[in-house]
Amino acid sequence: MSSTSYPPEPTPKGFAHLLSAFNDYSLSHGLTVRPAPSFVENPKNAIATAAPVSLYPTLFPRSCFDNARRVQPAYNSVYASVASDDVWLGELVSSLAAVDSFMKQLYDVYLDVKSEGFVHEYSLGLFRSDYMVHQPTPTDEPIVHQVEFNTIASSFGGLASRVSELHRFLALSGAYPPHPQLIADNIPVNPAASKLADGLAAGHKAYGPAALEGRETAVLFIVQPNERNAFDQRWLEYNLLENHGIRAYRVSLDEIPSTTVLEDRRLIYTTPQDTKVEVSVVYFRAGYGPDDYPTEKEWEARKHLERSRAIKCPTIATQLAGAKKVQQELAVPGVLERFCAKEEVAGIRGTFAAIYPLDSTPQGMVARKLAFEQPEKYVLKPQREGGGNNVYRGKIPRFLQSIGEDKWSAYILMELIEPPPAKGVIVRHGEAMRGEVIAELGVYGVALWDMKGELKVNNEAGWLLRTKGSDSEEGGVAAGFGCVDGVCLV
Ligand code: ADP
Ligand code: MG
Repeated sequence: MSSTSYPPEPTPKGFAHLLSAFNDYSLSHGLTVRPAPSFVENPKNAIATAAPVSLYPTLFPRSCFDNARRVQPAYNSVYASVASDDVWLGELVSSLAAVDSFMKQLYDVYLDVKSEGFVHEYSLGLFRSDYMVHQPTPTDEPIVHQVEFNTIASSFGGLASRVSELHRFLALSGAYPPHPQLIADNIPVNPAASKLADGLAAGHKAYGPAALEGRETAVLFIVQPNERNAFDQRWLEYNLLENHGIRAYRVSLDEIPSTTVLEDRRLIYTTPQDTKVEVSVVYFRAGYGPDDYPTEKEWEARKHLERSRAIKCPTIATQLAGAKKVQQELAVPGVLERFCAKEEVAGIRGTFAAIYPLDSTPQGMVARKLAFEQPEKYVLKPQREGGGNNVYRGKIPRFLQSIGEDKWSAYILMELIEPPPAKGVIVRHGEAMRGEVIAELGVYGVALWDMKGELKVNNEAGWLLRTKGSDSEEGGVAAGFGCVDGVCLV
């Protein structure tokens, strides 16, 4: 995978031409984000800037890419099963709720609505399973190891599709300096935006017609106020309308009380044009972390949505299934077998890195020792999404001491994946930076299942490559650590 001559180094004239082609393509094809307020004032929200993107697609082993995509339907089915297994998930989450207040708040809403009875017939998941290539030494066969599995607000599918088109355009148009690997044939077309929209459409169709004759049904996107990554989400909305003729609306959790009511547990939304529509699918691009619930109002809104008949993407149960604790439990020998067919176990298990609880079980006691004696090999993770929450390597012992032993079971300890060295050029605000990079592949999955856990739709749905400078431990694009990238398969 490492190649001394990749990416190529153009002449100053060639580089200026490439960068101008790159920027113009991004700006004219909606490969954009709203700038941070610290970067430029944007009072009317009318200014966009090119998203941080890799100038060249990053070299990625084809075998790893194929394997990660192949295993996705099996992963979808495992997580649909976990989300449908009240007993197993309930036990796991109630132990987490004792040490993690956000998990407790989510679980309380879940229990409340469950006691009243769920009325939705289906659950929808737009998942993303994240991987890094594990290749400790150049003679090892590269394999993918899973970083985490996302069950809520899996982002960047919209932009990832645009990036693959951008890189293919730069190769096809002759903007790249000639290089034998840097050709469009090695840069696959990424269908993430349309496939994720297909998933929303499948949910919408399964929901059926509105109760009131003549009333329209529509998809409701739950978004963060002042979302800077809105264009990524808009691409799903545009695909939904263009490919399926389905309308979507965007609201934040704090707007839910003033814009929606339940009529016989059907969710009725009043659009900004004062039309009433019945919501078929509630698609959460917010609500994954404590910051999305600044007041009790947002929690009430979440419960109101959960009580509705609308298909939630995801339900609270599905969101809880995405806890890192679930990922760790699935790695315990024998557990995966509860959630998938025998023939799928090996494929999934092959993507697991070593991952431990930090509780007082025998396995947890082993992990506590590892965390203090060999922290350099590990990352410590709480039950949080969205980046910036992990504790790495040498910082682990002091961190554990600082929080006190009674809180340790809220964390999992994971072996660090060791990707091979690679080089890349990240462009952020028009500034190109060349250096060592680490890539993380995300594979999207779409799953629709009924209350018995039976899958009606189960598809792999494209991918995302994110790249960060190798000196950065976290890789969040929105958080400012990395960029959206594409693969150049080798
Ligand atoms: P989050 O829910 O915050 O996205 P992740 O588990 O994805 O949490 O971790 C955030 C980042 O930390 C990842 O994108 C990756 O760059 C790095 N990371 C996480 N786990 C590992 C690991 N086992 N080995 C190496 N890097 C990791
Ligand atoms: Mg992540």
